[in-house]
Amino acid sequence: MDDTVRRHKYTLDEDEMPTTWYNLVADLPTPPPPALHPGTLQPAGPEDFAPLFPMDLIMQEVTQDRYVEIPGGVLDVYRQWRPSPLFRAHRLEEALGTPARIYYKYEGVSPAGSHKPNTAVPQAYYNKKAGVKKLTTETGAGQWGTALSFAAALYGLECEVWQVGSSYDSKPYRRLMIEAFGGTVHRSPSNLTAAGRKFLEDPANFSGSLGIAISEAVEVAASDPDTRYALGSVLNHVLLHQTIIGEEALLQMAKAGDTPTHIVGCTGGGSNFGGLSFPFLREKLAGRISPRIIAAEPASCPSLTHGVYAYDFGDSAGMTPLMKMHTLGHDFIPDPIHAGGLRYHGMSPLISHVYELGMMEAQAIPQTECFSAAVQFARTEGIVPAPEPTHALAVAIREALKAKETGEETVILTALCGHGHFDLAAYDDYLNGRMVDEEVSEARFAAGLSTIPPVPVG
Ligand SMILES: *Cc1c(COP(=O)(O)O)cnc(C)c1O
Repeated sequence: MDDTVRRHKYTLDEDEMPTTWYNLVADLPTPPPPALHPGTLQPAGPEDFAPLFPMDLIMQEVTQDRYVEIPGGVLDVYRQWRPSPLFRAHRLEEALGTPARIYYKYEGVSPAGSHKPNTAVPQAYYNKKAGVKKLTTETGAGQWGTALSFAAALYGLECEVWQVGSSYDSKPYRRLMIEAFGGTVHRSPSNLTAAGRKFLEDPANFSGSLGIAISEAVEVAASDPDTRYALGSVLNHVLLHQTIIGEEALLQMAKAGDTPTHIVGCTGGGSNFGGLSFPFLREKLAGRISPRIIAAEPASCPSLTHGVYAYDFGDSAGMTPLMKMHTLGHDFIPDPIHAGGLRYHGMSPLISHVYELGMMEAQAIPQTECFSAAVQFARTEGIVPAPEPTHALAVAIREALKAKETGEETVILTALCGHGHFDLAAYDDYLNGRMVDEEVSEARFAAGLSTIPPVPVG
């Protein structure tokens, strides 16, 4: 037995928690292209978003300010679980036999078990302030629905959630968690909306997708003046709220006396990845550090590595403004992989822009490699990760093993953005040999890309 006692955890006191969110747009050489009104193809103005979001959030969506104050009423809720811990993965490093140092910022300590409450809470706060009564949303793996239901309960708002069909069927505990917080859940596609009824006409849509569920939630919000819609990823204001992760991690890495050479995060719509990496990107742009910044996406829904950079709809029915983003086409329905939170056809326009500027990289990972990383992580670090961040762990392990070969100084920082306590069916599949890597055929990719609307360049 080795009785060496090491430093594992880098924490901050409540009053060391940052009190501003960081807006990367202020530091980019060029701003990301604007969203377009789907009818006129002119840049969408605040009034185009007003049926869906309260004005405070619309203003955060387009702000050029470098920092945005976190309201006291939000800080007060954040402090229930924030600052979240940063861990050094000593035992994983040893198991890999790598000289690399691996750190992970753990967001599974939140009430929902993921990073999602970091934006659910301010979104509910600003909606309440604007007099809204009810929020609608979609949920992929159930994490966002859980987070929004929790946040809505705190501010006395109703919450109605369309859960992607495949996830609704395989994750009953997520649905029950949403209901325990007071939310209502529908299986999507549902017959409650015109969009849902249209998609149900084709049996191929039965497993649902984030794009379809968004269409349903948007339709309901747009038709009721007391209801607004809340999105758990993709948009600028969501990434803004998530930067609390990276701002804390910067302080914690300083406490650890270490500087990351690699920052790795999984990307569905890009919010936990942007939240962790953007404050570090600010430091990189200022010339103070120089980490590689790497997005880990699923091989079955590879919007960065296999999508095109084009204007496309955020939902499947084509109701949202057009956003310039990496997209597989708004009709693309990914295989029902276990990482439901990563099954989105598009990528955050801001992350897509940063990717186009060459400021970050991306790798696509098949799910068996992810779960192999997941059990290795669980057996050394004692946390069973959600299926989504196992993509980031897989990339972290790839890079740590590379360091073993090259001997290059490697310090990896990753976001462990959620625990997998409600995802054990996925572990059942993996541990009992039922998990397979299905390749997406070129024909399916081509069919998805063909649904991207033709938008004149200019
Ligand atoms: C929702 C979710 C994701 C995907 O969303 P991003 O916006 O890309 O972060 C990833 N991991 C977990 C745990 C999630 O809940």
